[in-house]
This record gives sequence, structure tokens and C-alpha cells, in this order.
Amino acid sequence: MILNGKKIAQEVLAELKLKLDALKDKRPPLLAFLLIGENPASHIYVKYKVRACEQIGIKTRGFHLSKEITQKEVMEHLKNLNLDPEVDGILVQLPLPPHLNTQQIIEEVDPRKDVDGFHPLNIGRLLLGYEPYFIPCTPLGIQEILTRSSIPISGKHIVIMGRSNIVGKPLAALLIQKNKEANATISLVHSYTNDLEKITQQADILVTAMGSPEFVQASMVKNGAIIIDVGINRHGEKLVGDVFFEEVAPKASHITPVPGGVGPMTIAMLLSNTFKSYQLREKLT
Ligand code: NAP
Repeated sequence: MILNGKKIAQEVLAELKLKLDALKDKRPPLLAFLLIGENPASHIYVKYKVRACEQIGIKTRGFHLSKEITQKEVMEHLKNLNLDPEVDGILVQLPLPPHLNTQQIIEEVDPRKDVDGFHPLNIGRLLLGYEPYFIPCTPLGIQEILTRSSIPISGKHIVIMGRSNIVGKPLAALLIQKNKEANATISLVHSYTNDLEKITQQADILVTAMGSPEFVQASMVKNGAIIIDVGINRHGEKLVGDVFFEEVAPKASHITPVPGGVGPMTIAMLLSNTFKSYQLREKLT
């Protein structure tokens, strides 16, 4: 069965829109974007995110900054956005040009406006099981796809392929938590893992976040496994995931397509985090 992330994301956005419509004359939430340089994929991702905001009534403010911008100038931008009372969320589109210090930039974003959930304070709180202000959007979107599809997570063996700071590590942190939408047993594998296939074959739920086009073949998955494909890879004219879909889909009980799986959920969770930030900030003022 195909897990239609696009449709689930539309449901999430429709629910958010109702909440936004109910604000009536109140100020709408505002999400600020920092897009640095000319990375074509980053431009496309920001375009999709802005479009989704516009569709449901979240205001956006975009800063397209030159690829020659200095670290100091980026930090100044962030300081201003942190202090701006109208800004609820700040998104710095990654990856950044190589001369910039990504870690320092992520750490400069106010954790209470960090709707991407990448600030060490938010990641730390997530790992410790304290309520984070924000959970990273892709892991949150994956949890949401599973729960909204009535797929139990508790007690399952989830194998995550890829240990990035934006997907693999926070997803592991999210799904090991002690609550009914988590309680999973996690194996986190990477390019140094021995006997990869032996581990992936044991997965009740297999999440692929490697950026390796069609790497996962049928022999690597157990019959009836649930497959969540995070990978987005350009393959000639078309986009493919990390899973060889045609071969793996018949063996899986559920599988997300690429495109139309995890990608739209990531955007929906970004908007949901922005609305959460807005609510928190409105309560504070
Ligand atoms: P990343 O930072 O590029 O890291 C890739 C991870 O995969 C690394 O941990 C790497 O291992 C591991 N890996 C690569 N080849 C492997 C192999 N053959 N066997 C085992 N592990 C392997 O990853 P990312 O930023 O998380 O992105 C991963 C993919 O997801 C990309 O295609 C990206 O475009 C996509 N993505 C999609 C969304 C969405 O919303 N759908 C969001 C974010 C990312 P090492 O650590 O050992 O190098």
C-alpha cells in the first residue's frame, strides 16, 4: 500500500488553515527565510515552502543573500530577526556556501524561533525527552505519516539508514522516547556499518535517508516491512528515492513514494512548527 504523504500533508495543512482562519483580525504568523547563494535545489525548496505558507495564510519574509556574504553579516541578519517581534519563525536554508560556519549560524537562531528544530538546545531537549520548542520537520513528518496511517511504532524495530543531523539522528532521538507514538527499538546504520543487509532485513520499519539513488533493493527488506523513503535524488529527468521502488514495493506492506511521500510532510511540519511558535509567542505577550 502506498503511503500518500502528499494527501496526509494536505490534511495537516487544511487543519492548520482552519486555525489560521479563526485568527480573523489578529496578526498572522510570520516565517522569515534566509536563502544564501545560488544552490538550485535550495531555491526550489524555498519556493515550495513559501507557496505552502501563502496557501494557508502564513506571512513570509524572504532574504536572498549573496553567496559572498560574510559570516558577520549573516549573524547580524539573524540578530535582527531574533529581536523582531513580528517574526515567529526563522529558517536558514541549508546547505550554506562552504566559507560560512553552519554550526555557528544554527546556534545564532533564537531556539524559540528555530522552526527547523536544528538548534542544539532543541535537539538536546528532544534527546533528553524534555518538551523541545521544536522538533526537526522531516523526523516529525515521518512520525506523523505513521501515526496518521494507524501504523504502530511502539515496540517495533526501526532501522534508520543515514546519521545526518537533520534526519537520521533526530529521528532516532524522537522514536526512542518513552511514549506511545515512539517506544521503538532503533538501529542507526551508516556507511561504516558492517553487514548492512543483515540489519536492514530485520526492520519492521525501514527509513532510508542516505541520498543514494535506488540503493535499497528487495533482498535488503523483510516481507511485509514498512518503508519510509526520505531520499530525494535526481536521476536524469526524474526524481527517485533511496529505494528501488518497483522492486521493493511488492514486498512491502506500506511504502512512501518519491516524490509525494516524506517531502510534502516536511513542509507541512515546518508550517505546523511556525504556527506553534506563533501560539507560544502570542501567549507570552
Ligand atoms: P547526508 O547528510 O547526506 O548523510 C547521508 C547519510 O547516509 C550519512 O550518514 C551516510 O553515512 C549515510 N550513507 C550514505 N551512503 C550509505 C550507504 N551506502 N550505506 C549506509 N549509509 C550510507 O543526508 P541528509 O541530509 O539526511 O539527506 C539524505 C537524503 O534525504 C538526501 O537525498 C536528501 O535530499 C534527502 N532529504 C529529504 C528530505 C525530505 O523532506 N524528503 C529532507 C531532508 C533530506 P556516513 O555518515 O558514514 O557518511
